Amino acid sequence: VADNDTKFEAVSGRRVAVVGGGVSGLAAAYKLKSKGLNVTVFEADGRAGGKLRSVMHNGLIWDEGANTMTEAEPEVGTLLDDLGLREKQQFPISQKKRYIVRNGVPVMIPTNPIDLVTSTVLSTQSKFEILLEPFLWKKNDLSSKVSDASAAESVSGFFRRHFGQEVVDYLIDPFVGGTSAADPDSLSIVFVYCLILLILISLPTIHDQMKHSFPDLWNVEKSFGSVIVGAIRTKLAAKGVQILPDMLCKGLSHDELNLDSKVLSLSYNSGSRQENWSLSCVSHNEMQRQNLHYDAVIMTAPLCNVKEMDVMKGGQPFQLNFLPEIKYMPLSVIITTFTKEKVKRPLEGFGVLIPSKEQKHGFKTLGTLFSSMMFPDRCPSDLHLYTTFIGGSRNQELAKASTDELKQVVTSDLQRLLGVEGEPEFVNHYYWRKAFPLYDSSYDSVMEAIDKMEKDLPGFFYAGNHRGGLSVGKSIASGCKAADLVISYLESCSNDKKPED
Ligand code: FAD
Repeated sequence: VADNDTKFEAVSGRRVAVVGGGVSGLAAAYKLKSKGLNVTVFEADGRAGGKLRSVMHNGLIWDEGANTMTEAEPEVGTLLDDLGLREKQQFPISQKKRYIVRNGVPVMIPTNPIDLVTSTVLSTQSKFEILLEPFLWKKNDLSSKVSDASAAESVSGFFRRHFGQEVVDYLIDPFVGGTSAADPDSLSIVFVYCLILLILISLPTIHDQMKHSFPDLWNVEKSFGSVIVGAIRTKLAAKGVQILPDMLCKGLSHDELNLDSKVLSLSYNSGSRQENWSLSCVSHNEMQRQNLHYDAVIMTAPLCNVKEMDVMKGGQPFQLNFLPEIKYMPLSVIITTFTKEKVKRPLEGFGVLIPSKEQKHGFKTLGTLFSSMMFPDRCPSDLHLYTTFIGGSRNQELAKASTDELKQVVTSDLQRLLGVEGEPEFVNHYYWRKAFPLYDSSYDSVMEAIDKMEKDLPGFFYAGNHRGGLSVGKSIASGCKAADLVISYLESCSNDKKPED
């Protein structure tokens, strides 16, 4: 206890700047504050939450960013408990019912081995490959196959090696290309792949570098040998999202959460042992030189934004030109509502994903979430509300199209999939120019550059979805980890200081 008290004294009241008020920055700030540190969050936007963005309008509720999140990371569970959110979780209705388009029609993804045998989503040969996978995949082979060379294996390559091309085309491609969420109890044979994939829940290309895009899967394979056995031991759960940044913000005072505060520069001076960092930001287009100084900085802004910042070290410019250019994928999110009588073949469940191969049938979207089927309180009872994703790596140009054009695209796809008739009652369009960083084969160099930044800048820590995984859960875990590192760093600074005191 005495040791803990000493540690608490060492870090209590120390000042930490958190740049970025997305879920990773807010989670980091929450953790630091709960440990007695003095935090200040700087968020460029006029609102906090980053890629978590819920909207309420005329009796409709929709999400323009993440729709659901999982609890695979222990940090998420801890946060939900601490914030008293566990009992507020909203689980999607019929979430086990998910569809993949095959030969132009939505086919339910099997949720257990028996369903898999009767399902038309895969051919008989493919089904055999899946069912036999745990027996054919020898752990001994793993060490030779999962070597340094295969560290750069693509997502598609990994799944092709395990299950064959058809699984890549009809399960991996749409899940990687679309957006969805995890299921708590789905430990079945096909759903396992989806579960693991949904740890990420995002839109990299299937050629992304395996170990960056799917870190859990990577580790699962190394730990257990077979994907299926590994995933069966992994438990996930789905829940709602916007409430999380809202609750995290509630814990911060007005002075601790600076919205509309875009950080432009950071400066590190090694002269003093404390408060070595200062920063400047712009607010309402007015430059604000911050006279406040900080003992450490947690940076959670996307790396493309970090590259634009001026960083000084010891009065000299600290060039960030070693940070590689990152590719980002654009994405449009289209919300539509249709009166129930206009939807002739409504599907109950989570949503439908469209494999690239099905574009030959005229489909142009990545997939659609049946938002009001999952969460009936999202719209009045006479309507269906849908969330459709367009673009990603599959169709970057279309992501940038006008609302009118995208409305036509979405209506046409929903007409084929669900038999909608006529025009939607309501349309909302949100365009993410840089929805996701692309974890591609060059991502090793990005991770090395992040490590270098941290090594060369004492007290600087980087967190967020550019590091360790794209999902909400991964971002939270990354923020919490950075908070722990800051605490260790400040403790070590205070230990270094003692002999001189
Ligand atoms: P961000 O949310 O990007 O936050 C970074 C913050 O930094 C931003 O608020 C930005 O304004 C701020 N910033 C930038 N520059 C500066 C600066 N100079 N000064 C101050 N602040 C700055 N994940 C899931 O788990 N489930 C899903 O269903 C899901 N669906 C998604 C759907 C979409 C359309 C998108 C775009 C993402 C989705 N994701 C999903 C991914 C997930 O939402 C994100 O990866 C995660 O929220 C990222 O959090 P973050 O804090 O790391 O980054």
